[in-house]
Amino acid sequence: MNIILLGPPGAGKGTQARRLVEERNMIQLSTGDMLREAKDSGTEMGERVAKVMAAGQLVTDEIVIGLIEEKLQGDNAGGFIFDGFPRTLPQADALGALLTKYGKSLDVVVEMQVDDEALVNRITGRFTCGNCGEVYHDDTKRPAKDDVCDVCGESDMKRRADDNADALRTRLMEYYKKTSPLIGYYYAKGDLRSINGLGEIEDVAGEIKAALS
Ligand code: AMP
Repeated sequence: MNIILLGPPGAGKGTQARRLVEERNMIQLSTGDMLREAKDSGTEMGERVAKVMAAGQLVTDEIVIGLIEEKLQGDNAGGFIFDGFPRTLPQADALGALLTKYGKSLDVVVEMQVDDEALVNRITGRFTCGNCGEVYHDDTKRPAKDDVCDVCGESDMKRRADDNADALRTRLMEYYKKTSPLIGYYYAKGDLRSINGLGEIEDVAGEIKAALS
């Protein structure tokens, strides 16, 4: 099964994608993670996109479509979860063409609905274990021991450079201008399932499960 998790920054796409990877042996394709890896490993492309990402703007369609095409050629185990891709109409068209090219198809697009105020709160307090990727929050989910990951025991907590109020405003603007039209696009194709992304992680996971069945 190949699915898209669609929603604004902070909707919980990454958290839910990681659950699906564990529970269903799916492969998470997060263009944000791929771009951050390119940046951290100092590749020429990574350096080129670093400023754009830090400001909260979208990188070019060409770059992210190229990243996705590389991954689509590999093993797809229990299917792909597209997380943070597509983010523009040209990316959505390109994904459709690539899936066809590699003999695959799209099953469901899950739209995670969260109101803007909740997004701002979620994002500005967010930090992640740099080792295993577990996500924490200053107010709602602190590790049992400060700075030590509950899941893997490492002390490597990281905050994203673009999880600040200024960059978040730009990221939200980019979402409403360029990504939200995808909701109508996939609705018209008959692929869209909208869920409430505001509840507890378990509740949202249950809604996603229902949307996929
Ligand atoms: P994310 O981790 O999905 O929030 O993405 C972090 C940043 O990476 C975004 O704010 C963009 O700068 C860039 N990015 C990730 N995915 C895409 C995409 N599909 N199209 C354009 N830029 C992207």
